[in-house]
Amino acid sequence: MNPNQCSFCGRKRKEVQMLVSGQEGFICENCIEQAHSIVKESVKGQGFAPASTIDELKKPKEIKEFLDQYVIGQDQAKKQLSIAVYNHYKRLLHAQNENREVEIEKSNIIMIGETGTGKTLLAKTIARELNVPFCIVDATILTEAGYVGEDVESILSRLLMVADYDVEKAEKGIVFIDEIDKIARKSDNPSITRDVSGEGVQQGLLKLLEGSIVNVPPQGGRKHPDQKYIQVNTQNILFIAGGAFDGIKEIIERRLNKQAIGFSAEKMSRIEEDDYILSQINAMDLRKFGLIPELLGRFPIVTYLDKLTKETMVRIMKEPKNSIINQFVELFKMDGINLKFKDSAVEKIVEETMEKGLGARGLRGTTEKVLEDYMFNIGEQDQIILK
Ligand code: ADP
Repeated sequence: MNPNQCSFCGRKRKEVQMLVSGQEGFICENCIEQAHSIVKESVKGQGFAPASTIDELKKPKEIKEFLDQYVIGQDQAKKQLSIAVYNHYKRLLHAQNENREVEIEKSNIIMIGETGTGKTLLAKTIARELNVPFCIVDATILTEAGYVGEDVESILSRLLMVADYDVEKAEKGIVFIDEIDKIARKSDNPSITRDVSGEGVQQGLLKLLEGSIVNVPPQGGRKHPDQKYIQVNTQNILFIAGGAFDGIKEIIERRLNKQAIGFSAEKMSRIEEDDYILSQINAMDLRKFGLIPELLGRFPIVTYLDKLTKETMVRIMKEPKNSIINQFVELFKMDGINLKFKDSAVEKIVEETMEKGLGARGLRGTTEKVLEDYMFNIGEQDQIILK
């Protein structure tokens, strides 16, 4: 073993920037880089379907059980999402079969629910479970091509970025389009004047949702500095859209009343009644809200998230694997401090948060505030019990 040269390419120590030593030799930075790209190429060829046979695919029930560890409540949405994802990956397997006679189309999903009820969390958790690239885009930043704002293709630029510019990987990813309700048509009539941020964007999105080959500007694509566009096939990308759809309840109510369903005659609490009405949502209501029929056609699954009750919020504080309580307990433990939340303290935090109307998103902020002084004076006590 010559300590003055690379054991792989034979370059001398003075010809390279560094030599990394191993048990029986040395390797220079050039060889490391080359080896890295060989590994990357070979992994790429293996594809990124989460399974290669149907038996390996996680069944909807298993997917839901995984979601249960992180997302509290929202059983209906979890169930529908688990089925949709399972079917989506079954489709991917089916598409690999060259003798197939039937093409199975994909089913993108729309989730309706107030802010902070877990829409993003659901999509994020699913993507983590499946180990596929995942990105969140805000529909409000999108505008029709040619106007100030981002073109719809920028959605795919982001997906490519998280997939580290591996096109094949990106083509099996999941995109979460947040605030889809904000690109609703402003009036019920098809627009006479241009509707730059509403209908135009919906039209633009269609192209992506339909499953076509889209030219994507690489945006900060350091790996392809001289390449103008990257072609991405969106056929197998799963799109999940979410939005609060303020006012949708009234639209559903009007439709239900027309059909003379006397749901309000039954004894239900306000929240139960709201949840019941929301559970009746269908594409017609979304159309009335201002989504164009072509777009709705591409989102065959419409699901809704329940309002968070006080009980659910308390569970969110305590139960998820990375619950807020667990996170802070862990943080204090690093200083050797034993932090405990009494039930009454948790309830107080929940009540205060509910007044802010931010959904469960506000829980962390309220908890931070409650713990502020303890965190500032850290080290003064070795046990903190919040009452
Ligand atoms: P949105 O519905 O607005 O997309 P998010 O999913 O972003 O809401 O929720 C914000 C935060 O609130 C999450 O990161 C999570 O900590 C918490 N949260 C909301 N809903 C739930 C839930 N059902 N279970 C557990 N945590 C939740």
